[in-house]
Amino acid sequence: MGEKKKGIFSWYFNTNLLLRILIGLVLGAIAGIIFGPSVAVVQPLGSILVNLLKMIVMPLILCTLVVGASSVHPRELGKIGVRIFVYYMLTSALAVTIGLLVANIFHPGAGLNLAADASAAGKALSQPKFVDTLLAIIPKNPFGALSQGQVLPIIFFALVFGIGISVVSNSEDEKLQESGKALFKVFNGAAEVMYVIVRWILEYAPIGVFALIAVVFGKQGAKAFGSLGLVTLTAYIGFALQIALVYGVFLIINKLGYLTFFKGAREAMITAFVTRSSSGTLPVTMRNMTENLGVPRKISSFTLPLGATINMDGTAIYMGVCALFITNAVGMDLSLAQQFTIILTAVLASIGSAGIPGAGAIMLLMVLNSIGITIEAGSAVAAAYAMILGIDALLDMGRTITNVTGDMMGTLLVAKGEKELDMSKWTK
Ligand code: ASP
Repeated sequence: MGEKKKGIFSWYFNTNLLLRILIGLVLGAIAGIIFGPSVAVVQPLGSILVNLLKMIVMPLILCTLVVGASSVHPRELGKIGVRIFVYYMLTSALAVTIGLLVANIFHPGAGLNLAADASAAGKALSQPKFVDTLLAIIPKNPFGALSQGQVLPIIFFALVFGIGISVVSNSEDEKLQESGKALFKVFNGAAEVMYVIVRWILEYAPIGVFALIAVVFGKQGAKAFGSLGLVTLTAYIGFALQIALVYGVFLIINKLGYLTFFKGAREAMITAFVTRSSSGTLPVTMRNMTENLGVPRKISSFTLPLGATINMDGTAIYMGVCALFITNAVGMDLSLAQQFTIILTAVLASIGSAGIPGAGAIMLLMVLNSIGITIEAGSAVAAAYAMILGIDALLDMGRTITNVTGDMMGTLLVAKGEKELDMSKWTK
């Protein structure tokens, strides 16, 4: 990569990628604030980045996971699976608790007295049954799942397929062995190609970042400084605590450099922030974990897509904060038992939230349901909900950066626990 590019855009390609992304971020925010909603004309430039990332994500997951599963013993895979699952669940529960704590301190929504003037319409939510959700992990048609971008079914299929390849490659029959190895090579080669494409996509990222951030700031920037300022601030304090403190403590306990982690994870964090999609950020997350932080692909190819689908610490914090915002706004008091119910359902709801923009806001309805709050058109609750929906993009940026950082942290800890972490990346 290191060679200097020549030509009219040489200054662009020769500047450090992260610096360019940061410049895009800052310029985008400034443009959004200056031009307001009319900045939306640059939206297509942002959509190019999102579409490019989406284009690569399913092939990337499939190829890297097949390669990963065929190079790890199924028993080891099971161990990694249990570890990462426990980590994901515990940190999500901790995250909602943090959300509730900060909301109990700052009381966002208190004094809004919405119960008196309610106008907005609500949304109805039908919750899928838990068993159906589990069953849906087994794809009836893997090609269908692939084309519809369903991550969990593809993880399942890729794991089974990968294990199949390793069985065939280790067979007694030489011919079979050869075909197994050939198939492995094909997937391995394809995975490498995907990484090259990710690198190319990242070269475009600064421009996409500029456009995405400009549009959000243009549309919602002003609102966040108004009556919704406190809920935005409370949520962001929660996100910051989770990232800097909780993950920080994990790093310290595991004797891993604080700065090294955040330096290595920066590109993915910024991409998450602007795309508001954990799944969309996956290509960058996977690249950062392997290239910067020394996690072997056989682990990250499994734990990261899984995390992007089920581990949402930021969404869990948001749910705690917003549940309290809504109840405060309509003048309702929550008992400790109800707050405990929020913790439980928010963990489930965050698992159920897809890693796409806005998913958490829909799943918040499930959390509200669990404490007996339903959204009726014209009700005060609907008005409060509509208020936070109005700034969802801003809240979603913070949720997603936290979600993705949490996935990376879990992956790192599992790799460390499995003694698979390349420590040379941490001693520089
Ligand atoms: N946008 C979030 C994500 O992709 C999910 C959410 O809406 O909370 O991680």
